[in-house]
Amino acid sequence: MNWLVDTHTHSNHSFDGKHSVLEMAQTAEKMGLKYFAITDHLEFEYEPWNHPFDPAAQRRDVEQVQQQVALKLAYGAEIGLTADPIHAQQGWDHIKDHDPDVVIGSLHILDGVDVYHEPYFVGKTREQAYIPYIENILAAIKTLPQINIVGHYDFVCKGATFENRPMTLADSPAVFDELFAYLVHNGIGLEINTAVWKGAEPWGLDVLKYYREKGGEFVTFGTDSHRPSQVGLLIDSARELALAAGINYTAIYEKRKPTFIKL
Ligand SMILES: [Zn+2]
Ligand SMILES: [Zn+2]
Repeated sequence: MNWLVDTHTHSNHSFDGKHSVLEMAQTAEKMGLKYFAITDHLEFEYEPWNHPFDPAAQRRDVEQVQQQVALKLAYGAEIGLTADPIHAQQGWDHIKDHDPDVVIGSLHILDGVDVYHEPYFVGKTREQAYIPYIENILAAIKTLPQINIVGHYDFVCKGATFENRPMTLADSPAVFDELFAYLVHNGIGLEINTAVWKGAEPWGLDVLKYYREKGGEFVTFGTDSHRPSQVGLLIDSARELALAAGINYTAIYEKRKPTFIKL
């Protein structure tokens, strides 16, 4: 069961988190997780979320809790990126001297609008909402070569109001092609984010199969938990999806170096 890992979670060091590292880690231990990364938000790209945590305090906290749990704890950040390299720079500058174990690059904001909430979708077709999101992920992650993982490639689906919510390969094959070539070439992990499904049937098999075809050999698992009740959620389904796509490895990170684990 060594594959039971989570590389994307949040604690009360995040502006939107209320639960301590201890609460989150103890729950993860109870769920049988072997590796649990606290990746708190650094969102310099969006004023309402721009409350960066203190990396020294986060690290102290994680190191202290590590004494109390048997699973391997890691710390790092989820950096909110945009096509504008200034946000990557600000995020990286904020943590680079604190030896993060893992750094996730995520796109949450497009043209100054939060893609999770309804106003983003008003007046847009599914195509108009989804395609710019995928295109901008590619532009955004290129602004921060230091990332280990690209977070939730399908985040735009999470709050989407369309009946047909899942992202598919057919939504933008050319961009997926370029995205996967970039990830594989640079050894960056593609995340299966289980929070994005939000009650729907897990999706992404066609996307993951294409990623495998393009040379992708591993995925990372992120529940994006902000509270104990979300810890470990749907990790089993994520693993099944990966295996069904022919992907046999996941990765965990220490000081930003990956270790690959057979699924
Ligand atoms: Zn995110
Ligand atoms: Zn997150």
